[in-house]
Amino acid sequence: MLKCMEVNSKYMRLPAGKVAGLEAMTDFYRRIASQSLDCAQAWVKDSPCPDHEPATDAFTWGVVAWSDAFGLSMGVDMAEWSRLFVSPHHEFACYIKPLEDPEPLPDVDGSPADIILKLDALWMELVIKLTSQWGLFHHLKDKGALLEAQRVGGELRNPGSPAYKAFLESDLTFFHHLFKSFPFSEKTRKHINAWLKKAEEAL
Ligand SMILES: [Zn+2]
Repeated sequence: MLKCMEVNSKYMRLPAGKVAGLEAMTDFYRRIASQSLDCAQAWVKDSPCPDHEPATDAFTWGVVAWSDAFGLSMGVDMAEWSRLFVSPHHEFACYIKPLEDPEPLPDVDGSPADIILKLDALWMELVIKLTSQWGLFHHLKDKGALLEAQRVGGELRNPGSPAYKAFLESDLTFFHHLFKSFPFSEKTRKHINAWLKKAEEAL
């Protein structure tokens, strides 16, 4: 999980600098990714969770919902996926902010590339929603980032948009590094790789 947070802060799920008008969102993600990394470092040491913003809670719980939806969409063995991938994210989210259960993302359809980007958009929207819910007025300082996220969410649902390609490219790099740190079975690993390969064809 610590590795996962390191990947998160190193390869942001954001094509930084490649899509104009995402500057505030990029700063926001950087800040949240660095806070999550601090919290993850404390978590592996069994220390109390360091101070972090409500947006970090929202981000982390958003990832839990996303990880479940992503496994379902890829069609992997969900028992294995839940145990190896969703559970560690869920445990970490509970450490960051104790909560019953995450709000699930809606089902999506389409090609693997479409699915990746629709889930990105839904995940970002959930993060925005939870940030405003938990942050009260705190999130106002991130208004610029939230507006950018809302705007780009629309573009990600349009396969012809420059944002679609830029996000897909950065997501595929991110997934490659992310999934490497999880001990999936050979069968699941092959399934994931074949599915991501199909998504790559849309580039
Ligand atoms: Zn913390």
